[in-house]
Amino acid sequence: MDAAIVSQELILIVEDQPLNRKLVRDVLQSKGYRTLESATAEEGLTLARKHLPALVLMDIQLPGMNGIEALKQLRADPLTRAIPVIAVTASAMQENRQEILSAGFDGYQPKPINVKVFLQAVRETLDGPKGPPLDSNVPVQSP
Ligand code: MN
Repeated sequence: MDAAIVSQELILIVEDQPLNRKLVRDVLQSKGYRTLESATAEEGLTLARKHLPALVLMDIQLPGMNGIEALKQLRADPLTRAIPVIAVTASAMQENRQEILSAGFDGYQPKPINVKVFLQAVRETLDGPKGPPLDSNVPVQSP
């Protein structure tokens, strides 16, 4: 068998709708990602602190605490502060897009997700900001 490059990074899905949760889980697992799930922000925060996922996918509209408040709590905790968080939110929430973007999420994906675009955003967010071009990093050759 080919040694396929399979990412096993752990991704936390915070989403209150079971079908949306299943779709995102199936899409991520098909690429080899490991997943954790919670239906509430409160439980999501607990899971994030316990398992320190590589990425959090955060629904905004949730029962109880919403996704924006959950992001603030993740950022306020030194343990979870550096974990990237992508907002995944329904098109009906378009009017709140500015609020969502200014809240400090690392990305924004509308629901229903476009699988290809979604997976690309996940990968790019996991990879983080690109460094300077390689050639600008080459040390000056010593004599
Ligand atoms: Mn929701």
